[in-house]
Amino acid sequence: MKADSSAVSLLGAGPTGALLAILLRRRGHEATLYESRPDPRGRAAESGRSINLALADRGIHTLKMAGVFAQLEAAMLPMRGRLIHHEGGSTSLQPYGQRPNELIYSISRHRLNQTLLDVATRQHGVTVHFEHRFESADFDRRMALVRDLRTGRAIDIPMQPLLATDGAGSLMRRQMSALNLIEAHETDLEHGYKELSIPADAAGRHQMDREALHIWPRGAYMLIALPNEDGSFTATLFIAKHGEISFESLTEPATIEKFFSRNFPDARRLMPDCVAQFQDNPIGFLGTVSADPWHYRDAAALIGDSAHAIVPFHGQGMNCCFEDCVEFEACMGRQPSWDRVFEEFGALRKPNTDAIAAMALDNYLEMRDRVVHPQFQLQQALSLELERRFPQRFIPRYSMVMFHHEIPYRTALQRGIVQTQLLTELTEGSVAGLADVDFDRAEREILQRLAPLS
Ligand SMILES: Cc1cc2nc3c(=O)[nH]c(=O)nc-3n(C[C@H](O)[C@H](O)[C@H](O)COP(=O)(O)OP(=O)(O)OC[C@H]3O[C@@H](n4cnc5c(N)ncnc54)[C@H](O)[C@@H]3O)c2cc1C
Repeated sequence: MKADSSAVSLLGAGPTGALLAILLRRRGHEATLYESRPDPRGRAAESGRSINLALADRGIHTLKMAGVFAQLEAAMLPMRGRLIHHEGGSTSLQPYGQRPNELIYSISRHRLNQTLLDVATRQHGVTVHFEHRFESADFDRRMALVRDLRTGRAIDIPMQPLLATDGAGSLMRRQMSALNLIEAHETDLEHGYKELSIPADAAGRHQMDREALHIWPRGAYMLIALPNEDGSFTATLFIAKHGEISFESLTEPATIEKFFSRNFPDARRLMPDCVAQFQDNPIGFLGTVSADPWHYRDAAALIGDSAHAIVPFHGQGMNCCFEDCVEFEACMGRQPSWDRVFEEFGALRKPNTDAIAAMALDNYLEMRDRVVHPQFQLQQALSLELERRFPQRFIPRYSMVMFHHEIPYRTALQRGIVQTQLLTELTEGSVAGLADVDFDRAEREILQRLAPLS
């Protein structure tokens, strides 16, 4: 089947499915989406799923290309850096970058989904069937079964092709893997998460700095909070699922109260109903998904979280899915048939999604532990200084990932390894501050070990 022909079906109308539909339509395809949930438009946000998301350069760049950015800009809350809440009660801001545009943004997942769906469905040729759940695929017949959850009716849809944008728990991926059409792995993190709300004050204002991502790093666990438009913050506790200090041990109100009052006293004061929220809200699971290949012939392909879900500690999962869509669209422009599109897409994209999966796991250690260590802080200050002195060659890894969509994740990972080694060497021994750093040596090493970025 040619990639420039016909209708395409998508399973799942989350961020990936909705954005991809917009781009498919632009290339002349009719796109029909089957989404198991009800239409989110005109409804309150569902609880239990991350309420707000960090949006960064990669996501923004993609939204601009898809013509959706202007409708979301007003809903984006800038965050300048990490505001660390130390154990003693003091706070300190670690800026994310050093240029005025080096910010990340907090955005409501609900608002983003609604806007993407609005833009997608406004286009003639894009149809979304809500409350329609994909249930099984018959690869011999090249047909998939979707059930209308309102009537119970089963519908056969052709895989011509079928794009599975059905998220981390993708049924399509699991079926392809069970039939040995692909190899797939789901690696659970031992830690889970729970969301809590820090309300606005009586005047509807944010009760903490609204231009920061707040972090309470506590070594084995952490609390974070991102601002919402209505003056509230959504806080998320990440902690082990089992063990001495874990979701398993935090069940009694007195234990929960003690845990929060001891570890996060300032956040506790802002959440009068903290214990009740903790008891009522669900525990979310986190993990990394990998699959290879991401497609079966020209019949079906995985895109977005269904192919490569990652842990959320770099705030890149959705940003990465959006990048997928742009790469996929570019492959459609170059390749003559769907199987060739899928092959090229997987070959180009997987090294990058593997790289962000690794960096996201690494960032958990950084956020919950390393950020408070003086050596880390010195190395962070040094990396910004080296970027000022050698902007073509040294860009902090965090900045490459968050502020430079033109630098592939894989390059960020590879250069990041060299840079971390350099930072370690330059801060060894009696180096206590930037004034002690041997910048002549830094220059020699950088010129030798880091090629200029194009
Ligand atoms: C706690 C947490 C925090 C996060 N924070 C960030 C962040 O700050 N920044 C960031 O970039 N990313 C973040 N992410 C990641 C981000 O949420 C995902 O990468 C993104 O939602 C993936 O989009 P998707 O459309 O591929 O999958 P999903 O968002 O999961 O959407 C899949 C859709 O498919 C539908 N579906 C599923 N099964 C079926 C079926 N059988 N039939 C029909 N429809 C089906 C679902 O209902 C859903 O609408 C976070 C994730 C978590 C868990």
